[in-house]
Amino acid sequence: MGKWNWETAETEILALLERLVNIDSGTFDKPGVDAVRAVLAQHYEALGFKVEKDEQTERGDNLLITHKDAVDPDILIVAHMDTVFPQGTVAARPFSRDEQRAYGPGVVDMKGSQATTLYALKYLIAIGSEAYRRVRLVLNTDEEIGSVHSRRLIEEQAKLSRYALIVEPSDDAGTLVTGRRGGGKYDLHIRGVAAHSGAEPEKGRSAIADLAHKIVKLHALTDAPSGVHVNVGIVAGGTSGNTIAPNAFAKIDLRMETAEQAIEYDGRIREIAAAVDIEGTSTELIGGITRPPTIRTEGSDRLFAIVVEEAAKLGETIIGKNVGSGSDGNLTSALGIPTIDGLGPRGGNLHEADEYLRIDTLVPRTKLLAALIERLGTEK
Ligand SMILES: [Zn+2]
Repeated sequence: MGKWNWETAETEILALLERLVNIDSGTFDKPGVDAVRAVLAQHYEALGFKVEKDEQTERGDNLLITHKDAVDPDILIVAHMDTVFPQGTVAARPFSRDEQRAYGPGVVDMKGSQATTLYALKYLIAIGSEAYRRVRLVLNTDEEIGSVHSRRLIEEQAKLSRYALIVEPSDDAGTLVTGRRGGGKYDLHIRGVAAHSGAEPEKGRSAIADLAHKIVKLHALTDAPSGVHVNVGIVAGGTSGNTIAPNAFAKIDLRMETAEQAIEYDGRIREIAAAVDIEGTSTELIGGITRPPTIRTEGSDRLFAIVVEEAAKLGETIIGKNVGSGSDGNLTSALGIPTIDGLGPRGGNLHEADEYLRIDTLVPRTKLLAALIERLGTEK
């Protein structure tokens, strides 16, 4: 067994976390996300990993990582490098910490997971385990907007894998995610005809009035008992108070429990968008299902049982639950690949200014991920 000291490791994990948090990497900030990507690539290369870039024009470049000595790499790990925080957030509130918690943009969602994942692999290499050779990693750059650009890469890599480990953060209680609702995102653009609302209103066709009808119909699709929610989260439109609005815009969010619902409600949204509620207006709908709902299989149940066992050996009791939000685990699970999600460090207040990571969970979650890779990588 090689030399390994968990106290030293914790100090190093925290240092790497601080470095990663202090680089703004909002999804739309390509230079920022690419800077995080460069730091991680360097660390993986130093451990003997082969780092391939999946270049992107609008977003940061995704990374595909396997070890130089990889043999049948069929344990997929997915971790995103983007955050929901725009450029300038680090300047306003950089990494900070107190006794129990670390703070800063993306500290637990999911820069903490980037640090623990790297150290889980570093640990396996240090102790002479062979399991790191079985790992393939996708570090993607647009999870926070639904992985539109990285979906193809994730699905392609998932198809080559037996398991998918998604290192999204865990909640404060350490819950693992066994299922997630699916989701869709849409941009609805409506074009009307402008006219002076006092002088010749009859010439106008209001895009806003058309949108108003559609918003009511869209919200009426929500069927809470069945787990379907439709939300119009952003609206815009018009040019001035006394002009019949020539344009209107809405952002629509769909959440659902089952694959059947995904098809049904995607269709209903399209129908509502295509309907002409105000004569003379026209619409364009962009978007679709970004995340199919996760599916529970024998394989995913077995994987969860393995996680529970490995956690128990480390003195941790794991609870699994289904949650409403989506992640890249939806993509791998929908392909039938046994998937477990929420393997990252524990924390809370994700996507908020007081987002935090529980420092005392950095080492335990590094150990759990390492134990899991070891177990899955050596079973036959
Ligand atoms: Zn996340």
